Amino acid sequence: MAKMKRKLKKILSLVLVLSLCMSMMGMTAFAQGDENPCEHDFVVNLEESTATCAQSGTEVSYCSKCGEKQVRADVILDHEPTSVTVTKQATCTEKGEETCYCELCDVSYTRSIPALGHQYGEDGVCIREGCGHTLSSVGSSFVVDDVWEKSNPSQPKFDTFTLTCTVRTTPDENGQGGTVAVTGWNGKEGNTTSTNVYILIPETVQDDNGNTYTVTEVTCNFQMNTSNQKKGKLMGFYLRAPVKELTVNSMFANQTNLQILQLPDTLEVIGVGCFSGCTRLGAQEKYPVVLPEGLKEIGIGAFKKVNFAKQPRWISRHR
Ligand SMILES: [Zn+2]
Ligand SMILES: [Zn+2]
Ligand SMILES: [Zn+2]
Repeated sequence: MAKMKRKLKKILSLVLVLSLCMSMMGMTAFAQGDENPCEHDFVVNLEESTATCAQSGTEVSYCSKCGEKQVRADVILDHEPTSVTVTKQATCTEKGEETCYCELCDVSYTRSIPALGHQYGEDGVCIREGCGHTLSSVGSSFVVDDVWEKSNPSQPKFDTFTLTCTVRTTPDENGQGGTVAVTGWNGKEGNTTSTNVYILIPETVQDDNGNTYTVTEVTCNFQMNTSNQKKGKLMGFYLRAPVKELTVNSMFANQTNLQILQLPDTLEVIGVGCFSGCTRLGAQEKYPVVLPEGLKEIGIGAFKKVNFAKQPRWISRHR
């Protein structure tokens, strides 16, 4: 019997300890809940506030969640215009302007009206009067000029060329998120054989409607004096677009003047014969060619006849 009692006592004390533990945990939980402060959402109470647009005063607000009161002194409110005259209508892309009059203060002032943004119909054309902005469709092309200036690189000197871009993914309503392939280029007009040409493919391009596209592919070749009848010397190729592949056959074949080559980290494949016969490429330590770390595949003859001054060993294996 005494043994039973002891056992009962033991169980009882265990229950007591357990319940104590639980209540402590409960308390901790409560304390934690208390540590998370209210993300106040103060709403001004106009009746209790004395500030107006004409004279400074107090501004009383209450949190809509926890009811906390906040009082700010020396506040002047924005005018509450009693009449508004639009002096310049906002368009899809440009801000408008309007003149406001506050009777309480007897003050006139102007403020801008935000641009409206395009409103597209089912045919992809903006329905606002006089706009006619058209959503670009997949497969349509546009030409980008002044590529060098727009990309604002410091080196080397500017050369005029244009890039033909073909839409792969249409941008959203805000003109963002589109992608293009560079499908053509046009060397400096009136090139002579002595002209040095530097080509830069920027990360993003814009069409005439202000839509922005990321360049994700390059599908034209950059040979000169051959199929595209370009004259001049291709000296440098700056690829800043996040492309994964340069797989046009013999893309730069026999560009014997090409000495500056910048490739993006995204590049995974350099195709067959890509830089074949670019004898000056990587020959000078001044212009080292750095191959992207993520490169997975180098096509047959991609660097044929290229003698790097400093070359990663594995290139010779892949050549
Ligand atoms: Zn609150
Ligand atoms: Zn006022
Ligand atoms: Zn529009």
